[in-house]
Parts: sequence; structure tokens; C-alpha cells
Amino acid sequence: MPTVRYRYRFYPNAKQRQMLARQFGCVRYVYNWALALKRDAFRERGEKIGYAETDRRLTELKRDPNHAWLRDVSSVPLQQALRHLDKAYTAFFRSTARFPRFKAKKHRQSATYTRRGFSLRDSGVRGQPVVKLARMSTPLKIRWSRPLPSAPSSLTVVQEPDGTYYISFVVEVEHKPLPRTRREVGIDLGVKDVVVTSDGWRSGNPKHLKRALDRLAREQRKLARKQKGSANWHKQRRKVAKLHAKVRNQRTDFLHQLSTRLVRRYDVIYAESLCVRGMVKNHSLARAISDAGWSAFVGMLSYKATLYCKRFVQIDRWYPSSKTCSRCNYTMETLPLDVRAWVCPRCGEEHDRDINAAQNILAVGHTVSACGDGVRPALALVSEGNCR
Ligand SMILES: [Zn+2]
Repeated sequence: MPTVRYRYRFYPNAKQRQMLARQFGCVRYVYNWALALKRDAFRERGEKIGYAETDRRLTELKRDPNHAWLRDVSSVPLQQALRHLDKAYTAFFRSTARFPRFKAKKHRQSATYTRRGFSLRDSGVRGQPVVKLARMSTPLKIRWSRPLPSAPSSLTVVQEPDGTYYISFVVEVEHKPLPRTRREVGIDLGVKDVVVTSDGWRSGNPKHLKRALDRLAREQRKLARKQKGSANWHKQRRKVAKLHAKVRNQRTDFLHQLSTRLVRRYDVIYAESLCVRGMVKNHSLARAISDAGWSAFVGMLSYKATLYCKRFVQIDRWYPSSKTCSRCNYTMETLPLDVRAWVCPRCGEEHDRDINAAQNILAVGHTVSACGDGVRPALALVSEGNCR
């Protein structure tokens, strides 16, 4: 059965906030400590340290009197932090992700609890259980915006930089097959349009998002001019964090609508995998937001394809999709980024840059998935619902 996340806002009381702050702090500490450990072992001795070894060393670390404070919090999220790091590290070595980054206090804080780390009790209302975290004497006050469909296997509590708290539960759900459409599509991910499809449809990028983004950039410049640590700086920092949250929420809504639309419309969706697509190291705000948006979007397509019994294929092979003519396969030597339309010098076809790229992705998708049913081609990451 596919697993999905159900996310709710929750409102911790003063005591719970204190406890969560300690828990987040310890998770961050352990994650960074283990990341440094792994990094140095590899740099200095070419040695790879796995989860079991970090877990063993964590036990030692907790025995050290200078780290006694690590024993004041639940050990479950600390172990989960080691598991997350291990995953991130493996992904890096498989070159499907960049090198894991150290966690900073100013970013989103989180702690993940497996079943050992929380308790559920029936509240009398269906889908609204009483949830208590380890080391907490009182249950969490959760705003149940929709009922929880089944007992969760794990949960994550999050504090966003704007100070709001969320809890997300991992639950198993039934497949919900959507009608077959017998249509396949290649998609190109971009900045101006989040998605351009091989049949020529452009998603655009919501206008209100652009406005919020402009305002965010303005408020961030103001923040940079303030004296760091001053009362005004703190005030401005909260303002920026709130705006950030707003932009993120608007973007998430848009990406949800977009991914649902695609999964409804097509049986198979092909895209380039993000590491192939190239997460350009560019620190511009728009770019950073679109990078984050793409990973979120790919995640949505992947779980929705599984949930709704469709197929999402990420092509894990580099291919000059923008520069190659989708009609005759002629490949241009260069095609500067600002050239939005071009004419193939061999066959004379007029191309829109993005639509042509999406058409090539569809064609490559057909060749990599032509290995037959049940075979997972090495060049593609496939998410599908196996319910047919
Ligand atoms: Zn051509």
C-alpha cells in the first residue's frame, strides 16, 4: 500500500515549546556531529561510516558527562536523525543528491518519531486521536483539518522559521485508481513556466507568487541593512520569515493543483531527473525557490502516480534535450539560454525551446521504458501504482 503524509498545524503550550526546542537542538547537534564525523573519516582515511557505527558512537557520546544534556530528550528522534543523514549520504554517493548540508538554527527545525517515540489514544472522535510524544506529559493540541485515515507508522514535528508548528503523520492509504486516458507526456521543468508539456501546454507561474517574491526580495534587502542582533533586525527577520512561509504555501498549493492535473490527464509522465536537470549553483532568490519547488513537485508527482495507479518516470541519463531537434535528431552545438525559439538547420522545423525539450524527454522516455513490463530500467527512476 502506498504511504502518504498527512500534515496538521499544532499549538504547543509553553512547556511543550521548551521541550521541543531542546529536542530540536539535540537533533540538530547530533546530525551535524555525525555529518562532521562521516565527512572527516572519508576525507582523512577514505573510510565510509555507516548508520550502525554512528549509532554506536552516539551511545558513547551520551555517556560523556559533557554531553549529558543529550539524555534529557527522547533518543528516538536522535536515531532518526542518524538514519536521515545516512540516506542523504547514500544519495550523495549514488550522485542523486548534493552533499548533505549542516543544519542551522535559523532554518526549519524538525524531529521524527517512530512508533517507539509516541503514543496514540482514542479520543472518541474518529480520525482525531490523542497524540503524546515521548518525554511529554501532556498531549499535543492539533488542529484536525481532516481525519487521519489510519494509525501512523511515524510522525515528524516541525517548527518553521516563522515560528509555526506542524505535525506530519506517515500513513498507509488504499490505492485510488484514476481512469486510464491512454495518453503519455514528456515534461520540461523551468522557471518561467514550472512545466511545459510535449503537447505544447504551459503551466505558467502564478502571478500572485511573483508579487510576493518581489516583496520578499525587498524585505530581505531591508533586513541586510539593519544592525544584526538589534531589536529592529529581529522584527524584520520575523517579517521575512512570515513572507517566506506565505510564498512557500502559495507555491505548494499551485504545485499540488499542477501535479494532480497531470496525473489525471496522463497515464505516463516522463521528466528528467533533477540531478540530470542540473541544480545550478546560483544563489538568486527566484532560482533557489524554483529549485526547492522542483524537488517538491517531483515528490508530489511521484507519490500521486503511485497513489492513483499511474506511472511517473524520471530519466536518469543526460541528454541534450534542448539542443536536439525532436523531428530529425540534429543537435545544435550551442543554444544560449535566452534563445527561446530556433529553426533546425537540417530539417527546417521551427522549435519552441521548452516544447522541443519536452518532446525529446517523451521520446527518450519511450526508449528507456521499452524494456518491457516489470523491468525497472537502470536509467530511470520509476514510481507507479502496481494495482492493475
Ligand atoms: Zn531537424
